[in-house]
Amino acid sequence: MTRRRWIAEHWDEATATLVGTQAEHMIRVLRAQPGMEADVVAGGHVFHAELAAIENGEVRFNLLAELEAEPALPVTLVMAIYKFDHMEWAIEKATELGVATIAPMIARRTEKHLAQAAAKRAERWRRIAREAAQQARRSDVPVIHDPATLESHVRQASTATRIVLAEQERSTTLRYALEQAIAAAGEETPVLEIAIGPEGGWAPAEEALFDANGWRAVSLGPRILRAETAAISALAVIGSFLE
Ligand code: SAM
Repeated sequence: MTRRRWIAEHWDEATATLVGTQAEHMIRVLRAQPGMEADVVAGGHVFHAELAAIENGEVRFNLLAELEAEPALPVTLVMAIYKFDHMEWAIEKATELGVATIAPMIARRTEKHLAQAAAKRAERWRRIAREAAQQARRSDVPVIHDPATLESHVRQASTATRIVLAEQERSTTLRYALEQAIAAAGEETPVLEIAIGPEGGWAPAEEALFDANGWRAVSLGPRILRAETAAISALAVIGSFLE
């Protein structure tokens, strides 16, 4: 049975502290006491730790020894905002699959009411990612950016290999684009950005913008996938190449 990992909210070089619901669970449900041992994640590193003190509803650990941690997939999911429940499911699955960063985007076909409500949902998305990271025993929590407009992001300069999942694309597969990116990266591991459109797909002007800014359009096959299915499929394919 693998030991549960706790992701600390606060830490320094010698201690890490749980607060809020995690601390409450540890105190009330697990009846934790000083001396209890646990794996604690602090600042993207995993430590074997020992409970030092419980004070004012917070649980402080002494960090005893750093443990082997698995790196996240060097992937940013540039995800057009769509139906929140489906999108939140995709955030949870993308976290389990190792994504490093999720950048929610307002695309032309993002429904207006979702675009307006998105900024207020970012904290909820971060909580979902944190809980999924804990469950997946990750040593880090994916970064969830505040929602931005797709056009501003597409135009931004970047050293990443930028790939747009395009349902109309037929000739270039994700697999082929990855093989090329890996070959070009030599000994390094390529850093990737993967863009996924909203339920209504990409607008023609967005497809032209991707193309004009060096994004590679790729296909995930002849069938039209839901955005969340496309996200999971793409991350699974990338993980099979990079892990
Ligand atoms: N409204 C579009 C249509 O019916 O053609 C479907 C958009 S799909 C629900 C949402 C996003 O998932 C697309 O914009 C694309 O990024 C991705 N996607 C879905 N199927 C894909 C495929 N076969 N190849 C590449 N990307 C795909």
